[in-house]
Amino acid sequence: MQFIDLQSQYLRIQTEVQQAVADVLSSQAYIMGPAVDELEQRLAAYVGIKHAITCSSGTDALVIPLMAFELDKNDAVFVPSFTFFASAESITLAGGTPVFVDSDPRTFNLTLKNLQAAYARVVTEGKFRPRGILAVDLFGIPADYDTLASFAREHDLFLIEDAAQAFGATYKGRRAGSFGDVAATSFFPAKPLGCYGDGGAIFTNDDDLAQTLRSIRVHGQGTDKYDNIRIGINGRLDTIQAVILLKKLAIFDTEITTRNEAAAAYTQALQDILETPFVPNGVQSVWAQYSLLAAGATEREAILAALKAKDIPAAVYYRVPIHLSTAYGALGYQPGNLPVCEDLAQRIFSLPMHPYLSNNDIKLITDTIKEAL
Ligand SMILES: *Cc1c(COP(=O)(O)O)cnc(C)c1O
Repeated sequence: MQFIDLQSQYLRIQTEVQQAVADVLSSQAYIMGPAVDELEQRLAAYVGIKHAITCSSGTDALVIPLMAFELDKNDAVFVPSFTFFASAESITLAGGTPVFVDSDPRTFNLTLKNLQAAYARVVTEGKFRPRGILAVDLFGIPADYDTLASFAREHDLFLIEDAAQAFGATYKGRRAGSFGDVAATSFFPAKPLGCYGDGGAIFTNDDDLAQTLRSIRVHGQGTDKYDNIRIGINGRLDTIQAVILLKKLAIFDTEITTRNEAAAAYTQALQDILETPFVPNGVQSVWAQYSLLAAGATEREAILAALKAKDIPAAVYYRVPIHLSTAYGALGYQPGNLPVCEDLAQRIFSLPMHPYLSNNDIKLITDTIKEAL
């Protein structure tokens, strides 16, 4: 059994993908070829937004807009601590300082209440200038953008949506990737929509910002390609990845449906014995991960051992909240500073999740957990 089964998906689209890759190989337009434009138009239409700008990874999809906001190290960007490391790292790479915010115990996302507390702390300490919010759609569930966007407006902060795990999810009828001033997603192979290498995309409705993002993506180029008007990066997408994504986008909606069926079956089987995922009203998750909570650390390790004994892959996202990571030690956070996410880190675990899970797999997994308890 696979944690994420990329093989079954590949077998489904193998002929088209091989033909499309062969066409790129004979075209010699290896980087930013015509398929990249087509993909950007398809992605923008899918998300329901004006500009989609593809780039080389989900991390660069965060770094590029953060570079556009021209941060210095006294600029604070509020970010959840309980997320993949790149959410915070991108802020540091762009010159700013992450301010870590605790998570909601049910959605695991950033909430207005925790954001207000972190903002008040920064203002009282007076060391950093609040500049922006980087909200994460953790495990495929969009954050509560209505409340986050009004807080951002009220305090003149930019709002970035890290939709690396949520491409395809919806919040109040709108797609993930359409929230905030600008949104980022990742096409890393294991994400809900993945390519066969690294890739990402940035989304915005802001024409001026879109122009700046396109410039930063290619070394800060101006209208004359040999006149560099700002500092940028090499953040382009390969044409091979674009053609692969176009083939995968064509089957993506049916995959979202089967992901949701798998999640519903897990929840049905496990909701009486564990804390199964909470999906708020008006949200459809894309289930980047199916993550649930054991009663405590000991119970979690017993479940993981029982799964391992039957060769069932499971994972823990995340064992260390970022405010306690070695890399951010210099910021001086201590255990106890963000109690909800520190507790989640002790109890959370994730089950195999992909569109090709069989009912037999789900039964074996859930029966194994029931026996372990
Ligand atoms: C995967 C991920 C990223 C980074 O994406 P890459 O394509 O791996 O660079 C950023 N944020 C979150 C929440 C992620 O899960």
